Amino acid sequence: MSYEKSVELYNEACDLIVGGVNSPSRSFKGVGGGTPVFMKEGRGAHLFDEDNNRYIDYLGAYGPIITGHGHPHIAEAINEAARTGTLLGTPTKWENVFSKKLKDAVPSLEKVRFVNSGTEAVMTTIRVARAYTGKHKIIKFEGCYHGHSDLVLVAAGSGPSTLGSPDSAGVTPNIAAEVITVPFNDIDSFREAIDRWGDETAAVLIEPIVGNFGLVEPEPGYLEEIKKLTHESDSLLIFDEVITAFRFTYGAAQNMLQVEPDMTAMGKIIGGGLPIGAYGGRVDVMEQVAPLGPAYQAGTMSGNPASMRAGIACLEVLEKDGVYDTLDRLGERLETGLLEQAEKYSIPVTINRLKGMFTIYFTDETVKDYKGAERSNSERFSIFFKEMLDRGVHLAPSKYEAWFLTTEHSNEDIEDTLEASDQAFAALSSYI
Ligand code: PMP
Repeated sequence: MSYEKSVELYNEACDLIVGGVNSPSRSFKGVGGGTPVFMKEGRGAHLFDEDNNRYIDYLGAYGPIITGHGHPHIAEAINEAARTGTLLGTPTKWENVFSKKLKDAVPSLEKVRFVNSGTEAVMTTIRVARAYTGKHKIIKFEGCYHGHSDLVLVAAGSGPSTLGSPDSAGVTPNIAAEVITVPFNDIDSFREAIDRWGDETAAVLIEPIVGNFGLVEPEPGYLEEIKKLTHESDSLLIFDEVITAFRFTYGAAQNMLQVEPDMTAMGKIIGGGLPIGAYGGRVDVMEQVAPLGPAYQAGTMSGNPASMRAGIACLEVLEKDGVYDTLDRLGERLETGLLEQAEKYSIPVTINRLKGMFTIYFTDETVKDYKGAERSNSERFSIFFKEMLDRGVHLAPSKYEAWFLTTEHSNEDIEDTLEASDQAFAALSSYI
């Protein structure tokens, strides 16, 4: 495959845009460097780059694209908004229609607010929890990503009873001292943290099903225990469902897991491919938000008709019968095929999958926390990634990401992918 135009565009971009990309995850740093591919167009389950190479896409734009690229029903909604005003600066009925739709699907959202990104949604839930509880600290979980606001760019301390340290330049030690980070799926560490810091903890912030060190599900009873201990210390439980909402079922992960948080942050899929974030939860908690309450949050673009209408249209596609069963079936076929091939070429892998989302870890150990995901062999992943790309299969350039299926992937796409992966594993085995 030739990437000539991508190379040209990337060189130009490096002169214009810091690092040549508008989000660091798009660089190929995670796979040992190289030129990110410049895509020209997305159609259904496929992407086409500037050199006219075609790819089967499993990046799904890092999660939002569950109905494929350029879905006609969503395109129509966006066109309609473009014709009638993408931003009016006043309330519109679309905000009501969409809130109702979300609330019907996720009952814990007694009241909601729309914002413009997952980052904003999570950031605000923390402010609201502080306003509600009068406490300041948060407890979060190692390897989970919650956007790029200062508060969540904090790394773990040396143990559950120690405070965090900045995970990015520019985050002050004072901010880091408000955050405690503990390993996921380790209830003893959480118990230790909440025993030590519960009196000062406003909120416990967790991805109920992790999507940021690959896909990792909570162990049975884990979230229930977290919720119980959180409430015993008069703190609030916040679920970050930015990746998980509408990914596995028509609703949020909390519906499947049957654990309701006090507040939920969402984003990605609910925007139908346009920028969006939303947060919501218990009415007494949400009434802390301005103009009703003392916690301030605003946004020029928030609740704009284009994002609302794209989001509504996306949920209309997803609420049809059988959508998630189809995603599950396609995911299962891929999982089985990849595992068979890995065995055939004696390459140890572990796959964590739920419905149409999965991660392939290059390790034979079970992955249930961030340390487990770290053990996935980076070099092997990088080789596999590049071999797949050269065969027209587009994955995220990081061993910590997932494959995202869409409603537009066909059986043929899956079989073509497995043909490519067979060759990619064969190539990889020649390096080992
Ligand atoms: N929370 C989670 C769980 C996420 O995965 C992400 C983005 N990957 C965010 C928050 C931040 O969302 P955004 O990129 O829309 O700001």
